[in-house]
Amino acid sequence: MRTMLRIYNLYIVNILDVLILSIIFYKVILVIKGTRAIQIVVGLLFILALTVVSRDILHLRALSWLLENFWLAAVIIFTVIFQTEIRNVLAQIGGQFWGLKTKVPDSYATEIIAAVEDLSASMIGGLIAIENEIGLKNFTEMGVALNADISKELLLSIFKNKSAPLHDGAVIIFDGKIIAASCLFPLSHNTNIKIVGTRHRAALGLSEVTDAVVIIVSEETGQISVAYKGNLTSNILASNLKEIINTNGKAWKLK
Ligand code: ATP
Ligand code: MG
Repeated sequence: MRTMLRIYNLYIVNILDVLILSIIFYKVILVIKGTRAIQIVVGLLFILALTVVSRDILHLRALSWLLENFWLAAVIIFTVIFQTEIRNVLAQIGGQFWGLKTKVPDSYATEIIAAVEDLSASMIGGLIAIENEIGLKNFTEMGVALNADISKELLLSIFKNKSAPLHDGAVIIFDGKIIAASCLFPLSHNTNIKIVGTRHRAALGLSEVTDAVVIIVSEETGQISVAYKGNLTSNILASNLKEIINTNGKAWKLK
């Protein structure tokens, strides 16, 4: 018994420690990968290096005083800068704990796909976000509340008339309902992608800060695209949409 305890204290506890730390690092990297946060992290590492060099190697007193004070305020700065990321991580942990899943029932997927196909064929722009584990309340509140059952007809009524009040912006779907229309999403700052249009940037932007599945129909090309977890995949076949919708995006192996 005592040797067991010794083995635990000597080895297992450390292995466990490193393991948990690795999982946390891995999760954090997953969340910030491909977002603006990664640039901020690189910037912080640079300032950290500068702090060490100026204080311990070059002994620059004024500069290290300034940098040390920066690190004192860093907690507050981090909280402000990483507000959305911190919220996402906490929401994901909470979501896993409660096992929350918001699945779109099959019949709803069919309605959504039928509407998307129609928009695509008639070259009319559309933007539909399907809420997943992370709530989209912030974004629905800015739009026009509908709380209506999902139907192809309603989706087409929203998007098809270009001068209609609800045509601009996005529709948000949650729990089998069209929660709101005319919603605005944050535009993505991703510079690696060639797209310039705001509709596609808004879709990508939402997918960077939440785990929603965002479907875009292009007005210019009629193409259907999906943005999910910071990736934009263009020219998706309507037939592939079903699996993407039904698995909350997980079925889509991003190329
Ligand atoms: P398309 O291929 O359809 O032309 P695009 O990516 O080129 O799309 P724009 O041509 O800029 O985008 O499309 C403008 C439309 O995108 C607006 O009319 C509006 O409906 C939508 N849109 C613009 N900004 C946002 C936003 N922040 N959130 C949601 N929708 C937006
Ligand atoms: Mg355009």
